[in-house]
Order: sequence, then C-alpha cells, then structure tokens
Amino acid sequence: MKITFLGTRGEIKPKSKLHAMHTATLFASKGKRVMVDCGTTWLGKIDRIKPDQIVLTHAHPDHAFGLKEGSPCPVWATKKTWELIDAFPIPQKLRHVIEPRKKRRICGIQFEAFSLIHSLRCPAVGYRITCENMRLFYAPDVAWIEQMDDALKNIQVYIGDGATITRIMIRKKGDKIFGHANVRQQLTWCKKHHVPEMIVTHCGSDIVSHAKKAEKQIVQLAEERGIKVTIAYDGLVL
Ligand SMILES: [Zn+2]
Ligand SMILES: [Zn+2]
Repeated sequence: MKITFLGTRGEIKPKSKLHAMHTATLFASKGKRVMVDCGTTWLGKIDRIKPDQIVLTHAHPDHAFGLKEGSPCPVWATKKTWELIDAFPIPQKLRHVIEPRKKRRICGIQFEAFSLIHSLRCPAVGYRITCENMRLFYAPDVAWIEQMDDALKNIQVYIGDGATITRIMIRKKGDKIFGHANVRQQLTWCKKHHVPEMIVTHCGSDIVSHAKKAEKQIVQLAEERGIKVTIAYDGLVL
C-alpha cells in the first residue's frame, strides 16, 4: 500500500511550503486510490488527485468542504457527517454510510471506523486501516479515541493530530470534552498500546510556523517514549 500525504495543514491561518493544503491522505493499493478527507483548500482540485473513493472523518471545513460543489466519485461518511453536509450537491447514489466498528472494504483496503472525541457539533471518527499486512490507525483530529484498546491493537503506524505539541487544546463544556490531544499525549497512547511509530499530520501553528524547533521537540518527546516519529508534509510518500 502506498500512502501519500496530500495535505498536512490543520484549520489555521499560517501556512508554509511544507504545510499548505488541508489535511488529506491518499491510500493506494493495486491501482485504486482512496482519499481520506477533503477540506476547503481542495475545492476545485480533486480532479488532480483522481480518487476512486473518498472517505471522510468528520464535517469540519478543513476535512469536508472541498466537496461543497460536489464529488467526482463515491463518498463514505458517518450518518451524522452526512446530515451536516446534506446540502452539498452529491447525488444519493454516491453517498455511502460508514458505521463505527463495522469493517468496510473500500478499493480493497479495509476501513474500520472508531468514534473519536473531538467536536461536539461535528462528531469525528478515526479509521483502523488494514491492507497487505499493514495496520494503521488514522486520526487527524482527535482529543480521545473511544475503545482505544481495540483501535490501537497491533497497530504498526499511528497517524495522528499535530494541532499542538504540548499546549493543552482539550476544552470542556459541562461534562463533555472536545478539542485536540497534543502530540505528547498521543505519543503516550502509542507507548501504552505498543504502537512503535507515529506520523504527525494535521499540523498546527506550532509546527507550521516554527518547523525546526517543533521537529526537535517532537523527536525528543518520541525518543523519551521509544517511539519512531515522522512529521508529515505535503507530498510525502510512504
Ligand atoms: Zn481539522
Ligand atoms: Zn476537526
């Protein structure tokens, strides 16, 4: 399976050559291409990617609004995400519903959605992605993973949320929490669940505006936990 980080920027103003496009990742296997997420910066540019299928994590603009004028291919999203983007001109026959904990084969790649804590208005999922002996977990926007034991079991690479490195971006409303876990917390999840490697995407201003300092800091946090780490950038292919 080939993984291309098409975009690696979160919903922030700053951008750089390395992090210009909203976070989207292409998973390709046997000539078929699945694009996960399609934010505003992808509007009018999806044809360049030529995805066979698009899978969404949630309905925030930096993940879904590239589909505001329609989609060239089938799109998978949870029922809640479809409700939130119902006005997009995507024909019913291209709309597919994905449910948490139900494995789906999309272009030969297995996607299993897990509910995440991230947004109260736009509930998000992360995906356990399996293909050709590769087991990844993909969570570009995440404060917490529900059923984390199952989600991260035997995962080889965790692709996570770079909105913040050590700043606290978890917020509270009543008894509900939302926001973003920082990279430090996610590396600790990896350690606890024996995930040997993290790739940081959905980069926030810590990474986009201070790349050198951020890299040093993230590498140190990862080393302390015995995790291999890579900061993804637009165009990175694995
Ligand atoms: Zn986002
Ligand atoms: Zn979000």
